[in-house]
Amino acid sequence: MDQIHQLENKTGRLLWRGFTKACPLCGNRKLFRRWVHMVDRCSKCGLRFERIEGHWIGAVGMNTIFSFVVLVFGLATFFLITYPNVPMGSWVFIFAGVYGFVPLIFYPNSKTLWTAIDILMRPVVEEDFQNEGIPE
Ligand SMILES: [Zn+2]
Repeated sequence: MDQIHQLENKTGRLLWRGFTKACPLCGNRKLFRRWVHMVDRCSKCGLRFERIEGHWIGAVGMNTIFSFVVLVFGLATFFLITYPNVPMGSWVFIFAGVYGFVPLIFYPNSKTLWTAIDILMRPVVEEDFQNEGIPE
């Protein structure tokens, strides 16, 4: 029972660190240069982030899911606040223009979030900390 509780805590911590652009394993926040350039491995714990070839396709998926969730909640809130006189016209273009930045803003978070989810599905192994290239 205690082990299950510890696993839940660990899961929440991994996901929170991933969601907030930190290394899921150690919480190191120095992973990005500028906005989009992620380091290959964590400078603190040594985890190589691209664990397998094609690893980052999952981050694209995370970014797509997050962006659609924001879109659905944004539109729902907009319609609920303005109902029954939902304004159309220029508001649609303003909303679309602002919304276009969501995937760009969330891009680095999607990479660390996906790494956290990947670690939950495939726990880290010794090879994830070695210096060689990506295993086949
Ligand atoms: Zn780390």
